[in-house]
Amino acid sequence: MNIQTIIKTLIDSGIEKNEAECEIKLLLEGFFNYTEKDKIQGKLLSEADIQKLFNVVEMRIKNKMPVQYIIGKAWFMGEYFKVTPDVLIPRDETEILVKNAIDIINTSKFKSVLDIGTGSGCIACTIAKQTGATVLGTDISSDALRIALDNVTALGINNRAVFRKSNLFDKIRFDEKFDLIISNPPYIPIGTELQEEVLKEPKIALFADENGLEFYKRIINKAPQYLNNNGYLMFEVGINQAEVVRDMMTKYFNELNIIKDFAGIDRVVAGKFIK
Ligand code: GLN
Repeated sequence: MNIQTIIKTLIDSGIEKNEAECEIKLLLEGFFNYTEKDKIQGKLLSEADIQKLFNVVEMRIKNKMPVQYIIGKAWFMGEYFKVTPDVLIPRDETEILVKNAIDIINTSKFKSVLDIGTGSGCIACTIAKQTGATVLGTDISSDALRIALDNVTALGINNRAVFRKSNLFDKIRFDEKFDLIISNPPYIPIGTELQEEVLKEPKIALFADENGLEFYKRIINKAPQYLNNNGYLMFEVGINQAEVVRDMMTKYFNELNIIKDFAGIDRVVAGKFIK
């Protein structure tokens, strides 16, 4: 047995080739610290390690458990973030949101950011690490906030990103103002059929109402109270939601912008709040 046969086992179970290769890469790094560099340098894994990898892959196929939960971490914006089934696994698409946010923060010299529905804290931590802004991340789930706290501690930036339990804006005081409010809220319309792997993620992190728009609506209506003049509101959105979200934002926001992801799908909506 070798790594190629293990990848093939994954593909034969119905997982797409690219995805299968990524999963094996994550498992190799997660369990054996075996990196791409080791591979290029021709370092070999022992028979025992290959057998262990095969056993894990068999388990992953049987239980439909995302590999990130198996190894307990996910790769996002150049860092590993701790993840458990209490938090959504950070997605590649969310990197588009974060990269654009970082650009706006740097250009406008923004100092304060609110990340609503922070989950693992991947957005909050990355912004705090890569910009001069401090970030408040909120979530309704205490279990998620514990993971976010572990992540900010592992990155050594506890003074730059802090977390608070809050249902959207409920625990944000009226005198707290932010230059940027960012959110990747739950946006999957309730009732949508999903892969079993995705259903291992927390339902409250995935699903919204029938059309998936409830959190956008609630955040858009409250955001102006908590934004500084010339501040921004930025969202990640699901398929076919960008234009509706943009139209909802026109009530309070200007300079609305839709940004596409790698697959050409409208993925980010941003707008500027001018009093
Ligand atoms: N902010 C986290 C992320 O983008 C969690 C989002 C969520 O749970 N909907 O990964």
